Amino acid sequence: ESSHFYRDTWVEVNLDYIYENVTNMKRFLPDDVAVMAVVKANAYGHGDVQVVKTALEAGASYLAVAFLDEAIHLRSSGIDAPILVLGAVRPNDMSLAAKYNLTLTVFQLEWLQEAISVYKENLPVTFHLKLDSGMGRLGVKEKSEVTELIEVIENDPRFFLEGVFTHFATADELDTSYFEEQYQTFLQMLEWIPVKPKMVHCGNSATGLRFPEKVFNAVRLGIGMYGLTPSLEIKDQLPYNLHEAFSLHSSLVQVKKIAEGEKVSYGATFTADEEMWVGTVPVGYADGWIRSLQNTDVLVDGERCQIIGRICMDQFMVKLPREMARGTKVTLIGGQKNEYIHVDDVAKVLGTVNYEVICTISYRVPRIFL
Ligand code: PLP
Repeated sequence: ESSHFYRDTWVEVNLDYIYENVTNMKRFLPDDVAVMAVVKANAYGHGDVQVVKTALEAGASYLAVAFLDEAIHLRSSGIDAPILVLGAVRPNDMSLAAKYNLTLTVFQLEWLQEAISVYKENLPVTFHLKLDSGMGRLGVKEKSEVTELIEVIENDPRFFLEGVFTHFATADELDTSYFEEQYQTFLQMLEWIPVKPKMVHCGNSATGLRFPEKVFNAVRLGIGMYGLTPSLEIKDQLPYNLHEAFSLHSSLVQVKKIAEGEKVSYGATFTADEEMWVGTVPVGYADGWIRSLQNTDVLVDGERCQIIGRICMDQFMVKLPREMARGTKVTLIGGQKNEYIHVDDVAKVLGTVNYEVICTISYRVPRIFL
């Protein structure tokens, strides 16, 4: 099935690194803190099922995704670990969630009432209550709503409140003032809940890495599991080394010499200022190598080489320092000899975060696992 592919471009995912990143977080946290592996968006582009199996082997005990579809995909692939759906599930789909034994985020009384009104099953449903302590996204903010919501859950024997959580907006920033404010708000909000659920969690990777004493009893580990820093500003404050698991490779499918004055790619915007060797690389914006990456470097035979002319849907061209063999490996993210292009380097060029870069490499690029 998906393990067969017929093109010269692939993402390499180093599962040993993912294993190590999870193990390191487990070791770093107090013993009673669980690791919830965040594997939404196809495990941040790494391949959800393989990452899940590795994370579970390494000691993660819970999984988290954004959407119901992602959770069902994992269940259909034989994953039976508990899965929390972080995002809003459609009220009508609660019975589907129950059928797949998924944990739902309850973030609003009105949502719960609507979901219950159409829920005719006798299957149990497990919830984690989301509190909005200052992210301004999903979550309950008012004490009265929390109280009523808990009452509704407690009054129905099919429902079980297993957890309560919140999410920080600035856990990855050097300035910790807003983080502290949110943390205090969360503490106060927890006071509204007379009997604490089994799981209380607030930490993403940045929180787990920087404030392990503040995460209650679970960390929702996303970016750090993939070996990437939650932000550049905290990169040199990390308590252990992260191992970047994602790399992207291709190869030269044609190499040719062009003369001074000759043009390359759409718009004929690149003109050779001298005779040069040019390689064609079968990766384009439909693979997520977007047009703004024009003029950046890739690695060919251990050397940095510049992308010239516009990036096409399926291909781009690169200026070579000399004639090279067709089939020479090209690395877009990752290392060759003494050179390394990090996900963060690509993010910097694009004015974005590493999260966006790995999620953008499209389904069309096969993932292979080391
Ligand atoms: N928790 C929630 C609610 C999230 O939305 C995310 C992802 O953005 C995470 C945890 C994981 O965050 P990170 O990848 O920074 O560890």
